[in-house]
Amino acid sequence: MGLLTVGSVAFDAIETPFGKTDKIIGGAGTYITLASSFFVSKQRIVAVVGEDFPQAMLDTLTSRGVDLSGLQIKKGEKTFFWSGRYHNDMNSRDTLVTELNVLEHFDPLLPESYQDTDYLMLGNLSPQVQRKVIERLENRPKLVAMDTMNFWMDIAMEELLHTLSMVDVLIINDEEARQLSNEYSLVKAARVIRDMGPKYLIIKKGEHGALLFHGERIFFAPALPLEDVFDPTGAGDTFAGGFMGFLAATDDISFENMKRAIIAGSALASFCVEKFGTERLTEISKTDLEQRIDEFVALSAFEMAQSY
Ligand code: AMP
Repeated sequence: MGLLTVGSVAFDAIETPFGKTDKIIGGAGTYITLASSFFVSKQRIVAVVGEDFPQAMLDTLTSRGVDLSGLQIKKGEKTFFWSGRYHNDMNSRDTLVTELNVLEHFDPLLPESYQDTDYLMLGNLSPQVQRKVIERLENRPKLVAMDTMNFWMDIAMEELLHTLSMVDVLIINDEEARQLSNEYSLVKAARVIRDMGPKYLIIKKGEHGALLFHGERIFFAPALPLEDVFDPTGAGDTFAGGFMGFLAATDDISFENMKRAIIAGSALASFCVEKFGTERLTEISKTDLEQRIDEFVALSAFEMAQSY
């Protein structure tokens, strides 16, 4: 049931209406693996950092069962750096700085021990890098999921479409779904995008939950109404990590189980936004998570009157 994630391991600097951080640890790969570690005791990552990346965070990942043999540490080079500022609505943000550094020439090398991967999570990276990982696995995994963003649609649409044709699940937000499909209606967008390859499509709608499309079926998962959202950075990656971690742990890729996996991802994402960066994810327990999943179940469970 090997779960493999490829994704950025990064430094971020974040500004929200609540405050501002210096360089803190971020990166899609970091959020994804932290989130999936609540479900799987062992997993792997393919990523790259510079010499400046703190050993303490690598130790945290190792202690949570993340095999780092596919993590390259580039001597004399700097870790990927991203900085963003959120608007007052906390749903939209501006990217202030993107320093690719080690990501610029990233060649995702797979150790031999990663070849038995059953579940592959392609975090937001260039579609060429994402495709290389699929191609370098001798046997196709049971399930390949992929995240992407408008940045790649703007500069590498053809490459993106090629990679998209090779995956099973695409996880994107509503704005990205509209851009990718040229359709405003998310139902129409979902049809167009699934014609591009992925049999399953998850559209995240931030504080308004997430939709799962497959065949003629649609499942909607709410987001937990929170009094304060402190920092949404990494919520999407955390969602994806929870989703894939749950599927890998249960080794069941039926539509019914994907519904549960979406709730698992949503619950973890609701913790992620409560503090800056990865802090909240590293302090909560499995019991905290289970309680929150129960809150999600209660949020939309009801019994219809017998007659009306
Ligand atoms: P999210 O808020 O889920 O979109 O993810 C934010 C994380 O993505 C941050 O921790 C960043 O380090 C990382 N990130 C931002 N831009 C990129 C990019 N172009 N390539 C890879 N990772 C990125």
